[in-house]
Amino acid sequence: MTEEKIFERDDKNYLPVFKRYKIVLERGEGAYLYDINGKKYVDFLAGIAVNVLGHNYPPLVKAISEQAAKVIHVSNLYYTEPQANAAAKLVKLSGLDRAFFANSGAEANEGAIKLARKFAKKISPDKTQIITAWDSFHGRTLATLVATGQPHYHEGFEPLPGGFDYVHFNDAEELAAKISDKTCAVMLETIQGEGGVYPPKNDYLKRVRELCDKYGALLILDEIQAGMGRSGKFFAYEKYGIKPDIVTLAKGLAGGVPIGAFICTEEVAKAFKPGDHGTTFGGNPLACAAANVVLDTVPDEKFLAHVAEVGKYFKDKLIGLQKKYPTQISEIRGEGLILGAQLDKPKMSGVEIVNECMKHGAIINCTVGTVLRFIPPLIITPAQVDELITILDEVLGE
Ligand SMILES: *Cc1c(COP(=O)(O)O)cnc(C)c1O
Repeated sequence: MTEEKIFERDDKNYLPVFKRYKIVLERGEGAYLYDINGKKYVDFLAGIAVNVLGHNYPPLVKAISEQAAKVIHVSNLYYTEPQANAAAKLVKLSGLDRAFFANSGAEANEGAIKLARKFAKKISPDKTQIITAWDSFHGRTLATLVATGQPHYHEGFEPLPGGFDYVHFNDAEELAAKISDKTCAVMLETIQGEGGVYPPKNDYLKRVRELCDKYGALLILDEIQAGMGRSGKFFAYEKYGIKPDIVTLAKGLAGGVPIGAFICTEEVAKAFKPGDHGTTFGGNPLACAAANVVLDTVPDEKFLAHVAEVGKYFKDKLIGLQKKYPTQISEIRGEGLILGAQLDKPKMSGVEIVNECMKHGAIINCTVGTVLRFIPPLIITPAQVDELITILDEVLGE
């Protein structure tokens, strides 16, 4: 089919909830994607922080093919080796005790919220408040939508699940004023992603941990975007010297195969009895076979050191661009390979810059309208960073 035919067919039939960029992607290789016309793009989006090992990574392709030939799905009524192995790896990596698999980030967070509610109910029936951050993103189910502190996502979906309150990320005083014995959980992204790439400042997360402990509230960290090695540590919270009671993962966990997970302490896990939560597909052998390849690769010290090094190289290059175009870029933020460039009166809008980069052969993303976000495959090289920087330089200089 030609590109035009595909646009036409999709525009006519697919629910129009995405403003799509006008290219048809067909295949990928490492950090590159190719469209249906054979045009090559260096990929600095990675399917929104998903393709951590890049595209068409041979060991991942092999594991998926071999597992598909054995069995794809059996339900969670039975044991499977890929799931037992994936759960054991997540428990070991996190220092927590129990893992549960879902199919997406929203579902992982939804499960974490349910677990926290059940846990707190046992302490007191009115210990139900869940505090999240403004500008956060936690998903699109009704509960995770409310957890998402961006009111425009809520509009039109009322009545919404109750019991949620919001504070500004990085403001520990505001949290101290809002948290109480009635707080069931504080739920935060370790590094805010969709909201514009905001890492925690100073000892913010330590203060949050202390406040949670003081009031017996659970700390839920959403590492769906910032986890899986992206920050330069396997879990981003390792950078900040704290440990959550529940952590959620998804995006990069199976390198592109849909999956989500929450991992929690034994004490919290005890709040769920058989039948309290479940899923038909979650953690099936196919998804877990893929996750096992990622979990055998990303946590390796050398792999994580690569993420930290190329991340630093990339950030320095972005700071160089900021110095060259100070009237267009006001700040560079982020850790490892989750980086953002804050636009300030650019000649073009964020979306226009993304479109121009695409014409020049680079895929990037713009979030909240004014932040260019870079979340490439974790295997990206300094030479590929240079390719992108050259393109950005051309586009910003146009
Ligand atoms: C993407 C994302 C989610 C939602 O994941 P889905 O798989 O789209 O449901 C939740 N939290 C964070 C931090 C995310 O980046």
